[in-house]
Amino acid sequence: MSLVRLLGFTTLACGCVSGRYREVSTDREVTYIEEKGVDCVHSGHQRNQPVSANRVAHGFGGGIGRAS
Ligand SMILES: [Zn+2]
Repeated sequence: MSLVRLLGFTTLACGCVSGRYREVSTDREVTYIEEKGVDCVHSGHQRNQPVSANRVAHGFGGGIGRAS
């Protein structure tokens, strides 16, 4: 179980909006794509996916996956 705290949002050059979070248990910073930019060409930028290659604990926010 991992608890994260929101640090802030940033709009990237590609148009994506990223959200920075701090994982409380590990005191590590994680960046997620909050909104995919319309003109973004980076396939690695996926909504609700971490941008960095860091290992990230599963279960963040409960909003990942589960396409109905
Ligand atoms: Zn992007």
